[in-house]
Amino acid sequence: MTQANRQANLLNDCINSLKLWKELIETHLVGDEKSGELKHLEEIVKDCCSIDFNASKCSEACQDVVDHFNSDSADTNVDIEELYREKLANKQTSFNDNYQQQKIWKEIFNVTDDYDVEEVEQATNQNEQKTEYEEMQDSIFYSNVFTPPVDPISKMIIKDPYKNRTCGHVYEYKFILQYIKSMKNKAKCPYMGCGNRNITVAELVQDNDTKNKIKEYIKTNSTQSSDDD
Ligand SMILES: [Zn+2]
Repeated sequence: MTQANRQANLLNDCINSLKLWKELIETHLVGDEKSGELKHLEEIVKDCCSIDFNASKCSEACQDVVDHFNSDSADTNVDIEELYREKLANKQTSFNDNYQQQKIWKEIFNVTDDYDVEEVEQATNQNEQKTEYEEMQDSIFYSNVFTPPVDPISKMIIKDPYKNRTCGHVYEYKFILQYIKSMKNKAKCPYMGCGNRNITVAELVQDNDTKNKIKEYIKTNSTQSSDDD
């Protein structure tokens, strides 16, 4: 797994826990307690946006350094670290209060103003019998950047997604099968905080929509082999 994939996985885990936190607040708290906790959540999400913003600036600066050494006229007799710092300094346009435009913020607070018409149509067609969980998961796909789901057991990007009809969670098929078998029918959903305490193979349905999106994602980010099984 490449560094970029590891980072994508970590970020995905992080976003999922923040979403769960928000959901718990909305389900269990009321009044001042609720608004106080939501404020707290917003602060943490702001921090995450800022970390993510800085991380992307750092990797852009790294790329600039690589480009520098790849160019024919490059002065190769430079201190790499110094060059990196210089490149990074050129990028430090802080995003200030613009965090609501950040991908993480949009995903957690379900801001879905950017999705295209085709997806909107799909959403209206399928909307009737959706659980809150399913809608929460779908909202990932309506933001302009698709984040591939990470299997809670293997911690790898899921390639053959199966969805649990009861709680809406998505798993890598072969791992969830093994897990259910190994728990001798006393398996609880491996997503942290999920209340589904007895998952069965019969609850699992193939999730083709997600599968296609993952395929596309892997194709465009093809640092990882997509057919190793
Ligand atoms: Zn679950």
